[in-house]
Amino acid sequence: MIFARNVRKTFGALEVLKGVDLDVPKGSVACIIGPSGSGKSTFLRCMNHLEKLTGGIILVDGDFVGYDLVGDKLYELRENQLCRRRAEIGMLFQSFNLFSHMTVMENLIQAPVQVRGTHVEQAKEEAAALLARVGLSDKEAAYPRQLSGGQQQRVAIARALAMKPKVLLFDEPTSALDPELVGEVLGAMRDLAESGMTMVVVTHEIAFAREIGDQLVFMDQGQIVERGNPREMINDPQSPRTREFLSRVL
Ligand code: ATP
Ligand code: MG
Repeated sequence: MIFARNVRKTFGALEVLKGVDLDVPKGSVACIIGPSGSGKSTFLRCMNHLEKLTGGIILVDGDFVGYDLVGDKLYELRENQLCRRRAEIGMLFQSFNLFSHMTVMENLIQAPVQVRGTHVEQAKEEAAALLARVGLSDKEAAYPRQLSGGQQQRVAIARALAMKPKVLLFDEPTSALDPELVGEVLGAMRDLAESGMTMVVVTHEIAFAREIGDQLVFMDQGQIVERGNPREMINDPQSPRTREFLSRVL
């Protein structure tokens, strides 16, 4: 589903990604861990064309992220095409990024109605089902500020799902939460993974990676140092850098 090869990204003289490869098969979960500044968020943002690659390629479901292949040449997508393509790739952030002036229901139907042209009544019906799925049926009329952080993040997940994405990208979705609220968000993510969603999750939650991840990727200084089966890698890391990192976070 996701195919990334030799992804490079520089900001001025700063080389943030130095040739990163990743394969995420359909229906699988890839977890990315690594120290602060290693390029995890940048890599995730590249997968959604929020950052333009300096080199390499990323394909999502066979489509170049941000580009169209015509003959043997890549052409940058125009804004409206880019919007449509991006709608297939949901992204969740540490900060929940809900629209604060809209109710939960309005947050959920906004993109389906505006971007996809879904009929309002149908969008509402689908939104109600998604809210039930994340256990928030009673919060349709609430505003984000009236919800806990964990509830807001679950609304954000439901909002991403409302666009029927092919892939969901999570950038430390529980890092901003009080410890007692982390579990409910990880639980919603586990349900998603079990329903067959293809996911890439940047996280410090090693237990989640071990339990839910199909592969674990350790990044350091813009490169992938080690990847493998989460259980095996956590129990018996091969690289000294991975071992050192895990010993600090476990
Ligand atoms: P963290 O765990 O703290 O979130 P990270 O692994 O997600 O870290 P990135 O946010 O990808 O790291 O940042 C990698 C490097 O790229 C950092 O040195 C950062 O300062 C730099 N960087 C990121 N975005 C930009 C930007 N827009 N302009 C310049 N430098 C940037
Ligand atoms: Mg980050």
